[in-house]
Amino acid sequence: MTIGTAVSAASTTPPTAADHRAARTDLSAAFRWFARLDMHESVANHLSVSVSDDGSQFLINPRGRHFARIVASDLLLLDANDSNTLERDDAPDPTAWFLHARLHARIPAARCVMHLHSKYATALACLADPTLYPIDMNTMRFFGRVALDPDFAGMALSDGEGDRVADLMIGGGNKTVFLMANHGVLVIGPSVAAAFDEMYHFERAAQTLLTCYATGKPLRIVSDAIAALTERQWRDYGQLAIDHLDNVKAILDAQEPEYRR
Ligand SMILES: [Zn+2]
Repeated sequence: MTIGTAVSAASTTPPTAADHRAARTDLSAAFRWFARLDMHESVANHLSVSVSDDGSQFLINPRGRHFARIVASDLLLLDANDSNTLERDDAPDPTAWFLHARLHARIPAARCVMHLHSKYATALACLADPTLYPIDMNTMRFFGRVALDPDFAGMALSDGEGDRVADLMIGGGNKTVFLMANHGVLVIGPSVAAAFDEMYHFERAAQTLLTCYATGKPLRIVSDAIAALTERQWRDYGQLAIDHLDNVKAILDAQEPEYRR
C-alpha cells in the first residue's frame, strides 16, 4: 500500500487505542465542516478513522445522524472483524459498514476513509468522461491519484462491495481518491487531517473543471510533466492539511464548541 507516499507529508501521528479522544474530535470537526460546505447529503454518507494499528478498530458516524449535529461521543467504535455488528441496537448504516469495515481491515495504511456524494465530485462521476484534467493547481494535485470505479451496481449491501473497492485501491498503486461512477467519491488518507484536506481539494478541483465545461470553451490542459511536477510539489505542502483542520477546529471551538462533547 503506497498511499503514504501521496499524502505522507500531511500525516499526523495515527491515533492509538488510548487516544480515541483526539480521533473523535478531529472526525467530529470534519463532519461539521462538510455540513457547512454543503458537501453532505441528507443524513447519509460516512467518515471513519481507525484507532488500532491493524485498522480493525475504527470510529464511524451513527446511522441517521445529520453531519451538522455530530458530537465526538456519538461516533461508534466498531470492530471490522465482528460479523454481528449489524445486529447491534446501534448498528451503523449497512452501506457504511460494508464499505468502511473491509477498507480498514484490508488497508491499514488508510487510517481515515471518507465517502461523500458531494455536488461537484458526484457530477464529475456522472460524466461519460470523468477524467480530472490538469487545468489548475487543484486538479493537478490529483494527477495520477484518482482511481475510477466504472461499475456502479446498486447500493453496496454486501462484504463483496468493500472487498471490490479495496482491491481497486490496492491495485491502483499511488491512489488516494476513488471516484465512484454514477455515485460519488471516496478518499483515503493516513490521518483525518490528510483525508479531510484531500476531500476538500478534490471537490474544489471538480468544481473548477465543471465550471470550465459550463463555459463551452476549450480547456487549457497542461502537459503531463507539469501536472506531475505540481502533484509532487503539493506533497511538500503537507503542513497545509494540518493547518487546515486546526483552523476548522478553532472556528468550531468559537462557534459550535459542542462538537467536541
Ligand atoms: Zn454513497
